[in-house]
Amino acid sequence: NLSQRLQTVADFVPSGVVLADIGSDHAYLPCYLMLQGKLAKGVAGEVNDGPYHSALKEVKEAGFEESIAVRKGDGLAVIRENEVDVVTICGMGGQLITSILEAGKDQLVGVSRLILQPNVGGETIRKWLHREGWTLVAERIMKEDGKIYEVLVADFGQDGTLYEENAAQKLLLGPYLMQEKNDAFREKWTLEMEQWTRILQQMKDGRSAEIEERKQVITKKIAAVQEVLA
Ligand code: SAM
Repeated sequence: NLSQRLQTVADFVPSGVVLADIGSDHAYLPCYLMLQGKLAKGVAGEVNDGPYHSALKEVKEAGFEESIAVRKGDGLAVIRENEVDVVTICGMGGQLITSILEAGKDQLVGVSRLILQPNVGGETIRKWLHREGWTLVAERIMKEDGKIYEVLVADFGQDGTLYEENAAQKLLLGPYLMQEKNDAFREKWTLEMEQWTRILQQMKDGRSAEIEERKQVITKKIAAVQEVLA
């Protein structure tokens, strides 16, 4: 059985696709999807030795050695262009996910859907998607085992009017999540606001222009979140 977090990711994978799961660790996600009969073929990518061997073991035990390729390498370097339809990158920070996407742009040619599951830093990913011609089509936020997770789903193609209004607020909070405003969303952003407020208090004696600028950025973020949570 998958975690609710990975189940949510799995639900956004269309049937019959070739999928690459980058940073796959035990390869639970591709194995689960193959078992469900949803994948034509899978790739599990891992950069680290330990998780790479866990993936090999899991795939072998599940009997999927023919259909799931376990490959060792950094980010998207484990796939070729036009090889896969869907890429999943889960359980990392938004910065790391974004740097993997940025470094692997060439290998993203032919990919139609990205399903990304950041623990923090969704804003960085949304900005990259927007800039690089991907449309955010769905978002989820959930709490599991005391941690809050986001899932971002993007399809290739320009996002048109998605960020036409209130772009900064939508990029920070998520255009769909800020409409839904579920409990996990409220909890995450209430905590973030508390942290920002503490940071502002610690910075209150700052005199340099740089500190003033940072204070303004945080103040704007607080205002953007307050408006949505109100
Ligand atoms: N994706 C699984 C999940 O969501 O349950 C595993 C998440 S685990 C916290 C993050 C995994 O990403 C680790 O196994 C780590 O080795 C791998 N990883 C980190 N940076 C990577 C990179 N640049 N390329 C491939 N894998 C990476």
